[in-house]
Amino acid sequence: MSRAEKTLTPKLVKKLWAAFIILVFLMGASYMLITSYFANKHHQETAQRLDADVANHVIAEKFQNASPFLEDGSVNKELFGDLMHDMMAVNQGIEVYLLDNNGAILYSVVLDPNDKDATKSVSLEPINAFIENKGETFVLGDDPRNPEEQKIFSAAPYSVDGHNGFVYIILAGKKFQEVSKTLMGQYFAKLGLGATLLTTLFSALIGLLAIWFLTKNLRLITGTVRKFQEGDLDVRIENPEKSDIGVFAQSFNEMADTIVGNMDKMKSVDSLRRELIANVSHDLRTPLAILKGYVETLQMKKDTLSESEKEEYLQITHDNIDKLSKLIDQLFEYSKLEAEQVTPVKEPFSITELSHDLVAKFKVLADKKQIELQMENPKENSMVFADVSLVECALQNLIENAIKYTQPKGKVTLSIRRKDKNVEINITDTGTGIPVNEQPFIFDRYKQVNKSTKKQGYGLGLAIVKKIMELHDTTITVLSKPKEGSSFIFNLPAYQV
Ligand code: ADP
Repeated sequence: MSRAEKTLTPKLVKKLWAAFIILVFLMGASYMLITSYFANKHHQETAQRLDADVANHVIAEKFQNASPFLEDGSVNKELFGDLMHDMMAVNQGIEVYLLDNNGAILYSVVLDPNDKDATKSVSLEPINAFIENKGETFVLGDDPRNPEEQKIFSAAPYSVDGHNGFVYIILAGKKFQEVSKTLMGQYFAKLGLGATLLTTLFSALIGLLAIWFLTKNLRLITGTVRKFQEGDLDVRIENPEKSDIGVFAQSFNEMADTIVGNMDKMKSVDSLRRELIANVSHDLRTPLAILKGYVETLQMKKDTLSESEKEEYLQITHDNIDKLSKLIDQLFEYSKLEAEQVTPVKEPFSITELSHDLVAKFKVLADKKQIELQMENPKENSMVFADVSLVECALQNLIENAIKYTQPKGKVTLSIRRKDKNVEINITDTGTGIPVNEQPFIFDRYKQVNKSTKKQGYGLGLAIVKKIMELHDTTITVLSKPKEGSSFIFNLPAYQV
């Protein structure tokens, strides 16, 4: 069997068939029940309407010439014997009863007068209703021969020789029922067979059509899913909104997009990680090689080297150790941020005070490079709500860069300004500036402008700054013109006292 044919598993096919057979059976049975119920009702109503006047006729024709009561007040059994005989000759399903005013049965040919258990009376309620509506409404009365059942009847009042009562005629008596039952059995068998066959035929047709339509979409979706599974990551279900199982189709497309997105992300993270390892090993190797070289020279030539040479070598060693420890610090900081291990602990603090401290800290370095480092509005105290150590780290990186990329006699200015609900921090220098086409990338890890010039850092500083901004739900912008200088600007939420 080909893979496409297996869209529906045998288990599902079995279940569908079982459901189908049960459905057909239930439909056939309910069809039969409903039909027989209404057919029976229809027949009864017709019969009652047709023979509604029978009781009236009996009174009009039979009681005219002969009284139903004998002189001693007892029932004229002979008259009733003849009457029953005549009527049953025409319709064997008929049973005639003579009732008194209260519904008590005075006489009937079909009831055994010696039977003590035989019904003695019938309810007058349906009889009165029948007479009142002139037999035009369908009403069922008590069946004296079968007290649990209700039957169609005809009734009419009589008033003879001081006797009042009703002639009560059951229209579908015992005999009728016996005949009806046999016939009904045969009809039922035929009706049931016919109904089941028809239902089977129609439901089979509808079922097959439904399965075909349903599996048409399923086949399409299964085919697409299989292609995706086999590696065709670009494949998607076309027009998912038009599919009969749109939610499923849409969900698959979204799931595929997410998987592909995650794979791309993982790939890029992986390649960045590899790049990082390569860069780190390179960056570590260079200062280490320099260190090794100078330390070995110092060891071997300690007797021949002059004091000033020794001093110079030691200084170089010291600088390289500084570089190494800085790189390790930055790497540590960056990997912590990237692994999302850092949760900012936000609190209110004075950004002005922090900036003063940092300006004081970098003063020595700036003076050494003859750079003027200053705060623009040192008196204005601004409070922000942020993580103080992370903000300190970001500011430190920005000030360090500003000093690093500014020529002697240049200027680095730190300004803090309140703007609505935020405080804007701006670090501006009069340094080398950054080419416009490089500006969007300087916050990426290991991005360094002017690779040809002497390397002054490791390209991790601004990547760390960017991560810190993300943790504070803010961004940093750079405004820079080559040879004129750069401004790094970011906002922090102001703290309302
Ligand atoms: P690095 O350790 O190389 O300084 P950063 O991530 O801090 O790495 O900076 C990335 C690059 O952005 C730098 O190599 C430099 O080219 C550029 N850059 C950053 N700050 C400045 C600045 N104030 N002036 C000019 N260029 C800058």
